[in-house]
Amino acid sequence: MNVLDILFPKNCLGCGKGGGYICGRCLTKVSFATTCCPVCTRFSFYGKTHSACKSDLSLDGVVSLWEHKGVIKNAISQVKYKFAYDVVSDVVANAAIEVNKFKLSGNIQCAAVPLHRQRENWRGFNQSERFAEEVSRALGWQYVPSLLVRTKHTEAQVHLHKKKRLRNIRGKIAVNTDVFDKIDVKNPLIIVDDVWTTGATLKECGRVLKQKGIKEVWGLTIAKA
Ligand SMILES: [Zn+2]
Ligand SMILES: [Zn+2]
Repeated sequence: MNVLDILFPKNCLGCGKGGGYICGRCLTKVSFATTCCPVCTRFSFYGKTHSACKSDLSLDGVVSLWEHKGVIKNAISQVKYKFAYDVVSDVVANAAIEVNKFKLSGNIQCAAVPLHRQRENWRGFNQSERFAEEVSRALGWQYVPSLLVRTKHTEAQVHLHKKKRLRNIRGKIAVNTDVFDKIDVKNPLIIVDDVWTTGATLKECGRVLKQKGIKEVWGLTIAKA
């Protein structure tokens, strides 16, 4: 235990027990998400896109770690709505162990789903960037900040139905070309978001990146709703 743990004690966001934000007992109560093809949402091994579902601009796969429940759900909402930045490290420490089981290979580059600038300013940070940065550090991936940007203010996605969400996001995410020029299109790229709900945002990120010529784009989310 260090001095910070004494000054700012961490309690499990599931049961309240001291020692960390995510205790082992609460974590085992949260099921792993079923691995699914991001296009048809049916089961697929390791979340790889089925070859029949694949198109030029589709994601190559998506890794979602846990169901959006229990201590994982609480931890994500603490980061998202209460700006509890240090919760990110505890989530990522557990997430990195799980991501390793997927045996992703190659010189992986990693970026975050962009948050609209207005919303980012309002709460001061983009939680997906924090997750992307820390996961990259834990797994030795190359973190690429600000690769994707939002072009226009979109209605808060969460209030829209699935179809409307897809329509709503189309054309509203763009690749930051200055940053893009510095990455290697031949290496795989993983885009991080906190929760996979309909996948509309991650799919759009994949679409614009593939249009630019990236060969392989995967999504990674901590949880799946
Ligand atoms: Zn607990
Ligand atoms: Zn499929």
